[in-house]
Amino acid sequence: MNKKTGRLRLILGDQLSHNISSLSDIDINHDVVLMVEVQTETTYVPHHKQKIVVVLSAMRHFAQELEERGIRVDYVKLDDADNTGSFSGEVERAIRRHQPQSLIVTEPSEYRVRQFMDDWHDAFGLPVAILEDTRFFSSPAEFSKWADGKKQLRMEFFYREMRRKTGLLMNGGEPVGEQWNFDSENRKALPKGLKLPKRLRSAPDTITRDVMALVGERFTRHPGELKLFEWPVTCADALLALDHFIEVCLPSFGDVQDAMKQDESFLFHALISPMLNIGLLLPDEVCRKAEAAYHNGLAPLNAVEGFIRQILGWREYVRGLYWLKMPSYEKSNALNANRPLPAFYWTGDTSMNCLKQCVGDTIQHAYAHHIQRLMVLGNFALLAGISPAEVEEWFLAVYADAFEWVELPNVHGMALFADGGIMASKPYAASGAYIDRMSDYCGHCAFSPKEKLGPKACPFNYLYWDFLARNRPVLEGNPRLAMPYRTLAAMPFEKRQQIAAEAKAFLESL
Ligand SMILES: Cc1cc2nc3c(=O)[nH]c(=O)nc-3n(C[C@H](O)[C@H](O)[C@H](O)COP(=O)(O)OP(=O)(O)OC[C@H]3O[C@@H](n4cnc5c(N)ncnc54)[C@H](O)[C@@H]3O)c2cc1C
Ligand code: SF4
Repeated sequence: MNKKTGRLRLILGDQLSHNISSLSDIDINHDVVLMVEVQTETTYVPHHKQKIVVVLSAMRHFAQELEERGIRVDYVKLDDADNTGSFSGEVERAIRRHQPQSLIVTEPSEYRVRQFMDDWHDAFGLPVAILEDTRFFSSPAEFSKWADGKKQLRMEFFYREMRRKTGLLMNGGEPVGEQWNFDSENRKALPKGLKLPKRLRSAPDTITRDVMALVGERFTRHPGELKLFEWPVTCADALLALDHFIEVCLPSFGDVQDAMKQDESFLFHALISPMLNIGLLLPDEVCRKAEAAYHNGLAPLNAVEGFIRQILGWREYVRGLYWLKMPSYEKSNALNANRPLPAFYWTGDTSMNCLKQCVGDTIQHAYAHHIQRLMVLGNFALLAGISPAEVEEWFLAVYADAFEWVELPNVHGMALFADGGIMASKPYAASGAYIDRMSDYCGHCAFSPKEKLGPKACPFNYLYWDFLARNRPVLEGNPRLAMPYRTLAAMPFEKRQQIAAEAKAFLESL
């Protein structure tokens, strides 16, 4: 490398976008792109094997595409003999190899990585430019400005700002369909006999098969199976999967967005979050394609608005909240939940069928859809008072799309209410009746959602009331919980005692 002009450009495993800011002014005659597979990133939690394959295989494909563009790539593989196993170690070695004039990198998505990057200028004695990640609709600074002075940070109002900013589903200053949000139409159970679409998935190529062999050998103790690996690992395959979703699934996505079904993992969901989170798909292109499907009469407004809200609203909102509140955000434990995570979260070995199904999908595919995560896996952890740190580690480990900036607010704030209500206006706590209404899981279960107490009773039922009773000092003043607290108060004393006793026995048996 020419010492005067050459820059070293570091691309991280979730920065696999050709328009990433760190490549924007690349000088292909002098600059070198550095990509490193590091052991510490694969093991800081025990990531699902499929998640490691997605990231490493997508990195290797991306490096190949850069080389096809004439860019020089210095690529360090996980099993290279001299690999130090850490970002800082590998950047230091690369600086020694190339003697660059400066280091350029796009800001990392996670606080943990940002912390050690901030030391690089002093540690390596060369200029380090950390550039904004422009792939999102909004920046952390913009979110912080929106949040300033607000008592409550409700996603819905941020989402409306984002609609106005982007013009997505807007008619001048007004929302298309004269309504911002069609969520009330999107809570139906799966109609009996509804045919589910066959999903377009991606067969592993040689690069992916090599990575699968490496991961299978090296990460034997990590959770998850590899045999059903079918995630796209290139931008081209991710776009094919997106187009297939929009054509075949989006029209029904809204209506049954919250439904769950025995032995059916994907239903009408997009299956694009891992690809969005590592940069193979860009949020803007995804939302514009969905919007075009509405304008071309291919999908109804409730489906398209519901889908766009997830990306333009929720995804941007959780990122803004993460950067606004870190590092203190993860430390709160508003409901003082301290129970250890039950072993069945890793194995699926439980007679509660809903949990068995959702953990089973997770092990097989490194995937579970939103309601499985929130209303089954998260809801159980909330009701049982599982320690937020243990639940967060699990969610960060087991999903192919799990990166802390998006996982943490969803788990800590939305599912566990551990932030005391910054993110959600009330805990997403529900009894067995909700799961029974939204799925066919209960028909295959050893317990009954109709039984409230006794050996056949669904544990979610007595855990729900016990949760409210246990957390009365923190939650009773919440106006959105006034009704259940009135119902609890009206219960005969003996019934409340029996609920507490059955909940205690159940929790001690975990
Ligand atoms: C407890 C819990 C943990 C979660 N952890 C993660 C995580 O680690 N990584 C992650 O990407 N998503 C996470 N989510 C959000 C959501 O469950 C997944 O994005 C979604 O299930 C991915 O599947 P899909 O692509 O089929 O999404 P679809 O249901 O088809 O939705 C489309 C897209 O919207 C975005 N989206 C939807 N909901 C959210 C949300 N709440 N937050 C951010 N983006 C959203 C995703 O990018 C998703 O791909 C979590 C949700 C909960 C309740
Ligand atoms: S009865 Fe209860 S534990 Fe069993 S599947 Fe239904 S909700 Fe889950």
